[in-house]
Amino acid sequence: MRRDSMKKTFILIGIIILQWLSFNHTFSQSYTFPITDLPLHTQHNLNDTICALHILPQRGSIYDRRGRTLVSDSILYDLMVRPGKVKKQDAAIICSLLKITPKEYQDRLRYALNWQDPWQPDGKKTRDRPAPFKGMLSRELTRHLLKQLPALQPAFSLQKRAVRHYPFNTAAHLLGYVKAPGTGETGMEESFDNILRGVTGLQFRICDHVHEPTRPWMAGQTDVLAEKGNDIYTTLDIPLQLLGEKLMKGKRGSIVAIDPETGGILAMVSSPGYSPAELALHRNTLYPALAQHKDKPFMNRAIASYNAPGSVFKVVQALIGLQSGVIDPQDKFTCKGGYTLCGLPARPKCHVTGVHKPNLVQALTISCNGYFADMFRKTVGLIPKSGLADWAASVRRFGFGARTGIELPGEKAGIVPDTALYNRKYPRGWNGCTILSNAIGQGEVGTTVLQLANAMSIIAGKGWFYTPHLTDSISGIKNSSYQATHLKTQAFDLADSLWNLVHQGMYDAVHSKTGTAYSARVPGLDICGKTGTVENGNGQKDHSVFAAFAPRYRPRIAIVCMIENGGFGAEVAAPVVSRMIREYLAGSR
Ligand SMILES: [Zn+2]
Repeated sequence: MRRDSMKKTFILIGIIILQWLSFNHTFSQSYTFPITDLPLHTQHNLNDTICALHILPQRGSIYDRRGRTLVSDSILYDLMVRPGKVKKQDAAIICSLLKITPKEYQDRLRYALNWQDPWQPDGKKTRDRPAPFKGMLSRELTRHLLKQLPALQPAFSLQKRAVRHYPFNTAAHLLGYVKAPGTGETGMEESFDNILRGVTGLQFRICDHVHEPTRPWMAGQTDVLAEKGNDIYTTLDIPLQLLGEKLMKGKRGSIVAIDPETGGILAMVSSPGYSPAELALHRNTLYPALAQHKDKPFMNRAIASYNAPGSVFKVVQALIGLQSGVIDPQDKFTCKGGYTLCGLPARPKCHVTGVHKPNLVQALTISCNGYFADMFRKTVGLIPKSGLADWAASVRRFGFGARTGIELPGEKAGIVPDTALYNRKYPRGWNGCTILSNAIGQGEVGTTVLQLANAMSIIAGKGWFYTPHLTDSISGIKNSSYQATHLKTQAFDLADSLWNLVHQGMYDAVHSKTGTAYSARVPGLDICGKTGTVENGNGQKDHSVFAAFAPRYRPRIAIVCMIENGGFGAEVAAPVVSRMIREYLAGSR
């Protein structure tokens, strides 16, 4: 008889462990419920005598490049109630503590009575088991409640719960958020969920007749300890991230900054954003409002949307033209305030009025549309079939048209047009003049801001680069350091003297009085940059872009800012970028 009951018990334990294993792997996908109703410890009774408590592990933390905490778990308390134990006099105390009306008190009691423990959907409801009354109390309220608790027991009790805590309240899109029960959604919380979440523990208890766990079963020998999740060390620089978020307040757009010496993302800002701290505490009310907002504050604009790159793309054109040998950088092109060799009227028009004759460096400095239109036609050839294929292959070498592989969900690949695309678009035939807008980054090419920043990093490194990444290393995982397992690779091969010419053009764009980004210069800083103004075509204001790296020699930051409907790149995006470069270079040494 005793043997039989032992056997039965072990089968039950087996079932519990199976459930526990499946919880650790699949539970997250099968249930959704309001986060504020989830207690950290819930009971999982299968019969009258033994019950298993799930112990949620502490979730891993995420740090910036200097070990400053971006997010970590902190403990808050939920007020729980056993509706069957409530005394008449409890109402007054609770109403005054929580500052709620008697009606709200009754509503919350009713809610608790009907509450179904999400951890055991088939479990029995009883009036004597704790159900949530109010979730995530403030620390002050918890203190007051603790004082009054003896008078409120056994009906009311406090229960621990882990909540994500954001000491700097920053980098919302990068970090993502945590959905109950301890499941990461969007951002790094999603892509590194397996690393961060840890392993849920189990405690077996003898339970009394109302399923209340009492003493450990088998002296706790069968218990499974919860294992804390691993911590992630990122390449992010919190002060730079905070500055970027401040500068983008009230604007729509994004910024990406990369350390060209490592490929590590220093900052990735998407605006409008949201407060990760607020969302963690008030998910039920905040989430629907944010999800339905017309400006899509949950969207990471740096990776999840792409646009024409605008004139920033001329730097890439210049490099491709130099490599293909179709231009001599000293040759001057006569621009008549626009490109006239594809017929009249001049198309594209030039920002510079009147006849001017720039060479390569001057064309980059003043952003001459005519010069780059001519160069594009020469690069792709007059009958651009294989010429366009070669051009597209070269454009792809800068990371365009493919995901960078950044460790975040939702990255878009962008577009690099090919002959198939144009054969579809122009069934009656096409040539270099048909697709001339690509010369000035205004055609079919579509790039994310992350891709542009990566291209700037490649250009800063004279063709050599590390794949952009956020993770530097993961605690407890051997050889997880990025630098230990990756090599610098060559994206684009060009003679040093030619790289220097392109850098000169970008330097002059910022430092020459005729340069389009003269307003972005910072005394003492050798910023190389390129402005861009991306036409919308739908009557709205242009997008404003500025791409740069600094310093000119041994660059330490490559950065791109795009502001939607911001107008001229030089006026809106350039000051944001130069301010960030200045503060980063001042603070990082
Ligand atoms: Zn021109």
